[in-house]
Amino acid sequence: MPGRVAIVTGANKGIGLAIVRGLAKVFQGDVYLTARNSERGLAAVQTLMKEDLVVHFHQLDIDEPKSIQTLRDFMKDKYGGIDVLVNNAAIAFKGNATEPFGHQAEITLKTNFWALKSTCDILFPILKPGARVVNMSSSAGFLARMGGSGAANAALKQTLGDPELKIEKLEELMHDFVASAKAGNHAEKGWPNSTYSVSKVGVSALSRIQQREFNLDSDSDYVVNHVHPGYVDTDMTSHKGPLTIDEGARSSLFAAMLPANTEVKGQYIWEDCKILD
Ligand code: NDP
Repeated sequence: MPGRVAIVTGANKGIGLAIVRGLAKVFQGDVYLTARNSERGLAAVQTLMKEDLVVHFHQLDIDEPKSIQTLRDFMKDKYGGIDVLVNNAAIAFKGNATEPFGHQAEITLKTNFWALKSTCDILFPILKPGARVVNMSSSAGFLARMGGSGAANAALKQTLGDPELKIEKLEELMHDFVASAKAGNHAEKGWPNSTYSVSKVGVSALSRIQQREFNLDSDSDYVVNHVHPGYVDTDMTSHKGPLTIDEGARSSLFAAMLPANTEVKGQYIWEDCKILD
């Protein structure tokens, strides 16, 4: 019988590294720190080994489907699938970035939404019974905080918050945001001026759809939740966040370690591990 395995994406630093640290302490099975750059990933593994933790490494660039497929084949061969998947990897342009807004929209959604989605699409077929999936969202992905104004914005929020939202519609909206950001009319169409926020609104909507689709199969006991880590002291926030990376890992660890028969499914889990509407 193959052993259990947990995987964290984008874990060579920041909150991902702390999630690996936390899982290494509590998860009954092997924990994989993954990173797009093997040198940075292996250096992070060394850091954790100095803390007497046992963690494993596998390369994973979520922007590259081939890299995700290689990880999938390895996990299937060695472990018969995946027990825990934490989709943590993401990027954010700094507030003073000079790249055109349309370009920032395309690059941000490429990794934060589309690459996270393709990671799920490629890895979900090998999830093992009782698997836990954690999608890293953000308070910026909380629909009520999305920003933007006017009737178009209200309509967008209603569509994105619709409990029956279909994946095709969500994909259409994510494409529409990038196209209108490039055309310069995203505000008219109700979108906010934050590409990061739209990418995380997309991740949260996707997570709810994924859980709903799993629920259609009465035999499926997969659990997908989306989490906000709090405002954390990492490179992404230019170290302005007050929380340590270990504090930022709490909601992800809570979601990754939910017990059998949990009712917490398709939920938005806040930094204090409370469930949000
Ligand atoms: P960091 O910038 O510190 O770390 C991001 C990690 O993602 C890095 O390891 C980076 O790798 C990796 N990454 C980026 N692109 C890819 C890719 N294509 N493939 C694989 N790995 C990739 O960010 P944080 O630790 O702050 O953020 C972690 C998560 O938490 C993100 O999803 C973020 O949006 C979310 N979050 C963070 C908040 C905060 O306050 N910090 C608040 C709300 C949400 P590399 O080193 O190679 O660049």
